[in-house]
Amino acid sequence: MPDISATLAGLTGGGDDGWGLFYRARALKAAGAPILELTIGEHDIGTDPEILDEMHRAALAGHTGYAAVPGTSALRDAVAARLSRQSGITYGAANVLITPGGQAGLFAAHKAACDPGDIALLIDPYYATYPGTIRGAGALPRPVATHPDHGFQPQEAELRAAASGARSLLINSPNNPTGAVYTDDTLGAIARVAEAEDLWVISDEVYDTQVWDGAHRPFAALPGMFDRTLTVGSLSKSHAMTGSRLGWIAGPDDVIAHLINLATHTTYGVPGFIQDAGLLALSRGAEAEARVAEPFRRRRDILLDALAKQQHLRAIPPAGAMYVMLDVRATGLSGQAFGEALLDEEQVAIMPGESFGSAAAGHIRVALTLPDDLFREAIGRLFAFAARQMA
Ligand code: PMP
Repeated sequence: MPDISATLAGLTGGGDDGWGLFYRARALKAAGAPILELTIGEHDIGTDPEILDEMHRAALAGHTGYAAVPGTSALRDAVAARLSRQSGITYGAANVLITPGGQAGLFAAHKAACDPGDIALLIDPYYATYPGTIRGAGALPRPVATHPDHGFQPQEAELRAAASGARSLLINSPNNPTGAVYTDDTLGAIARVAEAEDLWVISDEVYDTQVWDGAHRPFAALPGMFDRTLTVGSLSKSHAMTGSRLGWIAGPDDVIAHLINLATHTTYGVPGFIQDAGLLALSRGAEAEARVAEPFRRRRDILLDALAKQQHLRAIPPAGAMYVMLDVRATGLSGQAFGEALLDEEQVAIMPGESFGSAAAGHIRVALTLPDDLFREAIGRLFAFAARQMA
């Protein structure tokens, strides 16, 4: 067999790609163990049946052939209208490419921003796929650490120190895994560094409907930023449509034209019946989006209330997204060791902070993704486990 490309051989950067504990939990579950899973960002509800009915109707009506590569004009219009409402700037269909999920959008955005060997900045802690996505696009990931003492908000001096020679900066607010929602000060600092270093900003806004404190601020709406920003969005989190693989990239129309070219030569578009279902999902408006988000707000509060009644673990209350990061350093365990032992002793699965970069070491990420009663049970076991480590 010939050698695999160096790009793929090195995709995960060597070692565990951060998903090891999750795969172990899934294997135990498949073997029948009653694992309580607070791992990946997936709703405990399925996609709304009305959206699925539309998918079915569209497929039976014949929308099963090749769809327009950039996306249907109706869906591009609907995404553009939603972005315009959020940002106050005017988007049109030509500013939007429909992609098979946000993940494909992140890859394509890095392809647009970076040539092979270019440095792509990302904020650490980061969503576990980011470094591999950047490497897959041929660029070199350079993490910029954020710190619990700053609420995991990027600091201008650290951004500046890392930005020299870089081509792009990937940001994510509301943030997975930390739940940080970037303040106006943080966004302003990012904009100043992007301007000074002539960076593309790739703004991953897939959690835009999950903001518990403050409001979502689209990065592209900051003064002067539209022309250097590629915004990645998705219906996965906002509409409980993770398996439908439906997302977008939005940005200047000439960049989108190049990205359509890339789509023609890679994905060749997204199934038409899925796009029709996405169109219906968007047409149901902000109230339907708030209904999907509400359980995460509630469980965040359940967890923060329970946290206040114990002394061992700490958290920075997340301002958004469907996770809470718990600081487990007082137990003397790493996030990884805490997670492995918690799974063995309590049959509760979480994600170790280390899966999201070195800045999240000593933390665990709890996904708010079980129905409330099971969620209470899982966090009760988690706190009992933590207390035992202190004895
Ligand atoms: N960005 C972030 C921060 C995520 O957490 C996820 C999924 N967990 C994605 C992008 C990708 O989402 P999707 O491809 O399902 O749209």
